[in-house]
Amino acid sequence: AAKLAGPGAVRAFVPDMDAARRARRALEADLRQALGAGQFDVFFQPLVDVRRLAITGFEALLRWRHPARGLVSPAEFIPVAEEIGLIGEIGAWVLAEACRRAAGWPGEQTVAVNLSPAQFGVTDLAAAVDAALAASGLHPHRLELEITESVPLGDDSLAALHALKERGIRIAMDDFGTGYSSLSYLRRFPFDKIKIDQSFVRELASRPDCIKIVRSITALGASLGMTTTAEGVETAEQFAQLQAAGCDQVQGYHFGRPRPGAELVFDLGPDLRPAAAA
Ligand code: C2E
Ligand code: MG
Ligand code: MG
Ligand code: MG
Repeated sequence: AAKLAGPGAVRAFVPDMDAARRARRALEADLRQALGAGQFDVFFQPLVDVRRLAITGFEALLRWRHPARGLVSPAEFIPVAEEIGLIGEIGAWVLAEACRRAAGWPGEQTVAVNLSPAQFGVTDLAAAVDAALAASGLHPHRLELEITESVPLGDDSLAALHALKERGIRIAMDDFGTGYSSLSYLRRFPFDKIKIDQSFVRELASRPDCIKIVRSITALGASLGMTTTAEGVETAEQFAQLQAAGCDQVQGYHFGRPRPGAELVFDLGPDLRPAAAA
């Protein structure tokens, strides 16, 4: 016992390191077979037009049903898929599945698919998009691609985005305001839409500055010809503030959670429609 403080004490840490490494390797191995095993699914969350108070689109959100761990968050496995070179394959599958579902919707709703910056490097993104559109018959105007600012986009990626825009596909900047390069991004690429990160929405009630920032972003977007969507709207109070601040579109649990593609609802509930909101 007296020796606990000696070098032996350090060794106690080793099994934990091994456990973490083993868990990571197991996750990688599971991820490599997940697509083939049919463990991925795409959920869809409504995007609500503020003026019309109607669902005008859905964001596609990837889900992994792990046989032992249940639903694993994309925030956990997407970074791993990027690192081990699986993101191209998975991303192409999401594109195809999202477009297939959207082509069967009852109206002209848009479908927004998240792109990982790593997808630009590992596959021919335009080819994956074209394949998804061709197989589904979805009109390119109904497809939106969301890109986060977490990783800098190189010139090759910008060229790929331009090629997609030329097809009529819209490009949205996701999680705006969280990265360090938001404004230089807006200058470098003609986005169609800015998605204001949910951290700004979450703090609306507690921090008076937040609404000023939101108002500035919507004004900036409008002056650049971009629409703005606020993410993570959970309450009627937040919605009222965002509406007053000039946001064009809102998304969040207040209007609907992500749901499986076969269980979508295309109309807002009666409590969320214009009459009740007035
Ligand atoms: P994101 O693109 O910013 O998606 C919005 C996230 O916020 C989703 O988390 C959504 O479920 C969640 N969310 C929506 N409304 C609310 C709300 O009112 N409150 C709260 N607290 N959360 C809300 P999710 O589905 O876990 O996805 C997390 C992130 O994983 C996404 O963030 C996106 O960056 C990434 N992701 C999801 N699907 C894909 C995909 O197919 N490909 C890639 N590359 N990334 C994906
Ligand atoms: Mg997104
Ligand atoms: Mg986002
Ligand atoms: Mg996010």
